[in-house]
Amino acid sequence: MCFRFASRCVVRLAVLVFTLAASPSVFGQGAVSFNFDDGYCDSLIHAVWRLEKAGFRATFYPHTSEIGKFGHMTWQDLRTLAAKGHEVSPHTVNHLDLTTLPLTGMQAEIFGSRNEFISEKLRAYSFAYPEGEYNVAVVAELKRAAFLFARGADDYDLNSAATDRWALYSHSLVYNATIEIEEVKKNILRAKQENAWYIMVIHEIKPGPLDGSRPYTVTPEFLQTVINFLVQMHEIG
Ligand SMILES: [Zn+2]
Repeated sequence: MCFRFASRCVVRLAVLVFTLAASPSVFGQGAVSFNFDDGYCDSLIHAVWRLEKAGFRATFYPHTSEIGKFGHMTWQDLRTLAAKGHEVSPHTVNHLDLTTLPLTGMQAEIFGSRNEFISEKLRAYSFAYPEGEYNVAVVAELKRAAFLFARGADDYDLNSAATDRWALYSHSLVYNATIEIEEVKKNILRAKQENAWYIMVIHEIKPGPLDGSRPYTVTPEFLQTVINFLVQMHEIG
């Protein structure tokens, strides 16, 4: 199943750009993934067409309680993304820190979001921990719910073949500081040179200038710069 999914969505590049669901086929190679957390409509407006124009596919992690609410994608939006080869996987129901919940509450967040995905005709491949928080009990429930991998947040490291698939590292991009662009480019180059896997996490995307009041926000131009850099790497091989 995953390999079939992978063949639809992996784009062969100097560095691969692929969804988390495709990772069994490329784990440990030079690779980059775009993740969009929390289901904002911003990604439909500013990101999806830019990525698709470059031939890239991404992973989207909405939490189900916000799906269809103001500023958030609908189930139909998510099905359309999946039909185009993007991955759409759960980020729980209510975006609560799973390590703070009693077992039944934690299970309800994991299985509840998975079951909603299934009833909405979406396959739940991977999982993103709200606030990046997890523990042994959370991972055990994810395995029981038949997820394949899970991603943390703000780890600022790259993944290797040895990385725990239930604790994938990622880099949450913040507002349009020049230094952040340079950091992203450096990590993409590292992914290529070290055969590592760099996962970028994007939340809101707003036209600038940004004032930093919502730090997990980038501009469309920021995203385009990252895409252009990846395309340029492809062209120079
Ligand atoms: Zn989130």
